Amino acid sequence: MRMNVISVKKAVKTYRNENSAASIRAVDNVSFDVEEASCFGFLGPNGAGKSTMMKMIYCRIERDLLLNSDISIFGLDPAKTPLKIKYLSGVVPQEDNLDEELSVVQNLQIYSKFFGLTKKDASGRIDELLDFMELTEKKKSPIRNLSGGMRRRLVIARALIHNPRLLILDEPTTGLDPQVRHTIWQKLRDLKEKGITILLSTHYMDEAFQICDNIIIMDKGKKILEGTPKNLLKDNMEKYVLELIKVKRNELHQFIGDTGKVRVDDLREPPNLFSDNFDTLRIIADKLEDGEYYLRRSNLEDLFMKLTGRSLNELQ
Ligand code: ADP
Repeated sequence: MRMNVISVKKAVKTYRNENSAASIRAVDNVSFDVEEASCFGFLGPNGAGKSTMMKMIYCRIERDLLLNSDISIFGLDPAKTPLKIKYLSGVVPQEDNLDEELSVVQNLQIYSKFFGLTKKDASGRIDELLDFMELTEKKKSPIRNLSGGMRRRLVIARALIHNPRLLILDEPTTGLDPQVRHTIWQKLRDLKEKGITILLSTHYMDEAFQICDNIIIMDKGKKILEGTPKNLLKDNMEKYVLELIKVKRNELHQFIGDTGKVRVDDLREPPNLFSDNFDTLRIIADKLEDGEYYLRRSNLEDLFMKLTGRSLNELQ
């Protein structure tokens, strides 16, 4: 059995506003374990508490020190030994905080100095990482000449400079185009193959589905479900969805008729219809014109909607 790299029990984080009595419980009693060499993801909309959860793990902020609450990273407590944990983990923050004045290689050299690598070790490691991230040709380029995808790959390379055993990424592909996102996902899979444990946050359900072995679905600071993406769908959702584009709720009876059991969601207008039986939905779709429906497998966005009544990408 693989060992747990991260173990979190009833983590709580309250942000207190010094100028008012108001406080926000950004993370509320969240527990989970992360196995070595696996990819673990937090999926949830903006404001769900994902970044706060990750910041407690990479020692950027301190959790509420409550009696029954505990966080252990490689057996260490971030509240007591943050420096040791920082040496064992690499962090990719949400913003690309690269030094614009410096070139690609200089950005990596500066980080290698933070971690005490010798010049020789740093040079070998930098070449290896540039090659892995397909940035060798850009080694001497100024940062301003890099595309968004290249910047992201460089920030990931930088986080790996000291050979960390844990890589933590906050929304790794937000704002990037689909092709670049797929490249980054492949790099993360490769890193996992090499034994690195990956922790990430995302509000993209396809990102969670494609690369995470386990996910926590978070909303308003709370864990609402945990499991493998496939099992979460299997256990909580019908297999198929018929998205109606034109037909309204009050016109449905003429299409559904006696075609068997479908669930009509009560959130959208026109509504979505759900069923485990593809043919049941196909029969209904056949009564509609092309362009009036979309028949597909259900996904984590549908599940989030079912659980919370809101979309993962809704502005809060
Ligand atoms: P997510 O990463 O899921 O978007 P965050 O962890 O950033 O969510 O935020 C969770 C909640 O905590 C939000 O309501 C946010 O406004 C609040 N929050 C985050 N950081 C701070 C802070 N430094 N001070 C006060 N409130 C904060």
